[in-house]
Amino acid sequence: MQPLVWLAPILGEPTTGPRSAYGRNGEHMSVSSKGAKWHQQLHWRIAIAMVLGVIAGLIGGEPLAEAVGWLGTLFIKLLKMIIVPLVLTSIVTGVSSVGASAGLGRLFGKTLGYYMLTSLLACVVGLLMVNLIQPGKGADLVSVQTEEMPDLQTAQSPVDIILDIVPENFFAAAAQTDMLAIIFFAIVLGVTISTLRPRHQEPLQALFDSGFHAMMRLTGGIIHYIAPIGVFALIARLTGTTGFGAFKALGLYAFMLCCGLTLHLLVTMPLVLRVLGGINPIQHFRNMAQPIVMAFSTSSSGATLPVTIDAVENKVGVSNRVTSFVLPMGATINMDGTALYECAGVLFIAQVMGVPLGMEQQLLVVFTALLASIGAAAVPSAGLVVIFIVLQAVNLTGPQVELIVGAMLAVDRPLDMYRTVINVFSDSCGAAIIAKSEGETGIDEVA
Ligand code: ASP
Repeated sequence: MQPLVWLAPILGEPTTGPRSAYGRNGEHMSVSSKGAKWHQQLHWRIAIAMVLGVIAGLIGGEPLAEAVGWLGTLFIKLLKMIIVPLVLTSIVTGVSSVGASAGLGRLFGKTLGYYMLTSLLACVVGLLMVNLIQPGKGADLVSVQTEEMPDLQTAQSPVDIILDIVPENFFAAAAQTDMLAIIFFAIVLGVTISTLRPRHQEPLQALFDSGFHAMMRLTGGIIHYIAPIGVFALIARLTGTTGFGAFKALGLYAFMLCCGLTLHLLVTMPLVLRVLGGINPIQHFRNMAQPIVMAFSTSSSGATLPVTIDAVENKVGVSNRVTSFVLPMGATINMDGTALYECAGVLFIAQVMGVPLGMEQQLLVVFTALLASIGAAAVPSAGLVVIFIVLQAVNLTGPQVELIVGAMLAVDRPLDMYRTVINVFSDSCGAAIIAKSEGETGIDEVA
């Protein structure tokens, strides 16, 4: 083995492999590995690590979960370490090159329009499933062990969501990984840089552009060397501590949600890709294999963001101009899986309590679920925390509701893993569709 060969992707040895769609100099490292045998490809290695993690967790139980858990934590910490500088440099680079032109306004409009459309479709699927399967009718949740709610800071009302977007202090927002505030600041800074004279504009653009390349190369190194072991540890810890026991009591509820999420992933999104973008969904799934397994094992669209950006640029073939705008914003506010879950979850609670919700109230649920999914942080369990915003809107409050939400939390992790996959996948579809509509070519074409 050559000395330090494992550091090559980090230190900057030229990488071979798929085309880079990166607009300027295309030099950041891709974590993709086309051309290699299947077992050498990173997404397969991660998938195998996941299966081994399940087996190890079931056999080793709590002691193994404790022994390997720190490796999972280390992996998530490494991914989180990159998020703030990556999002800041990515957005400032993208926006300052587009400028405060009609181009930026158009991109913004398309992005928001796409987010609203797919989240709404997800809500409709959620409502359909819960009304069809009716998992809450006659369900006895009193005997199910309830769990403590995680202490996540989330907005309390729709107005709070809007006010939270503007940071009082950018550094405080960055220290708390307050994504909406960071995105807002980055967009405003990018637009401002685009209005400067070349003497001031160019060095700043070069600084952020180089910073972005450095963050992408760092991402590549972490994913390449740490991801399989990190994923193994995360999954082993999960199955070692919870097993599959909790699933029995809330089986029908979990089944209903899985059906809804699957319908959205395998029917709605492929249709949207075909109709709006003329894109081959199977090829898009193939190109997104890595972010999908990463979203599944981390339960966090935020932590998956670096991998999503890498795959959408280097495999799907979208330019940095579009990804830098669509993906960080998408990871934060476009959460189809979460929106579907909010709608279905609230109607499930109403069914358990024997409170029928009419058409008007169901529409209110859809509206607030949309806002709640926008306000939900891109971290594990955020969806379950913001469900209280939606419950409040239809007056479902009190100790019994809290008890049911606690029981739902007992089975939330695997559902959270699945809805995070949907959240990430919808973002990548959006980037591909918007890139095509902006006249980019070669999107999701077989390399
Ligand atoms: N974990 C999800 C995500 O990061 C959010 C949620 O809990 O629904 O996308």
